[in-house]
Amino acid sequence: MSAILPATCARCNGSGWIPLSGDSLRVEPCGCQGDLRRRQRIAASTIPRRYYPHCTLETFYDKNNAVLKSARNRVREFVDAWPMTIDGRGLLLMGGCGAGKTHLAVAALVEIIHSGKPGRLLFSNFQDLIQEIQASFDPDAAVGKAEILRPLLEADLLVLDELGSQKPTQFVQDVLYYVINSRYNTERTTIFTTNYYDDASVEGQRLQDRVGDRLRSRLHEMTELISIKGVPDHRIANKQSRNIL
Ligand SMILES: [Zn+2]
Repeated sequence: MSAILPATCARCNGSGWIPLSGDSLRVEPCGCQGDLRRRQRIAASTIPRRYYPHCTLETFYDKNNAVLKSARNRVREFVDAWPMTIDGRGLLLMGGCGAGKTHLAVAALVEIIHSGKPGRLLFSNFQDLIQEIQASFDPDAAVGKAEILRPLLEADLLVLDELGSQKPTQFVQDVLYYVINSRYNTERTTIFTTNYYDDASVEGQRLQDRVGDRLRSRLHEMTELISIKGVPDHRIANKQSRNIL
């Protein structure tokens, strides 16, 4: 047997069922099946390895910072309410590099799965998505644009990470508009993260410069804004503390 195969559950011998004590004709589901379902949902959500399993709300480091604490509380409220949302309203996590936006967005998916709440959940990095679609234009490509985009339209809760990270060419804008507008029309919920702001520029650009005015106003309708502004970059902070050591 290969070492990478999961070990067979000793309690149910892999059948998924345990006889009820005192009644050999009746069975109950084995606890291992919950874990299996959970692992399947985590895999189906395509959360990158670097974020799972450690990105939960519990492990989110708030540095005793009021902005970070409030952001985490808001994500917790969202998770607690799921799948109840008002008109499918999601979240827009806005903040600088290393502020913890992606951690919080991933944590929302992980917490929903761990609590056994329903829904098809999906993580997508916008930059990777655009590259994948561009690769699909190759005549030898195995999958086309429509197949790549379909899961993004069908997910009940989508995390779209790094909105605005791609140079806003017409092509990029069209893909983004198609995804966001389809989800808007079907009242599906999306959590966006972005490094760009509405009122301040990052390298001379605001969010609406990166996604266009039309999409920015649509995002207003679809999400509640969580601004994580003025928080030090934890990656730089970690590096500095390592340098001191
Ligand atoms: Zn079992």
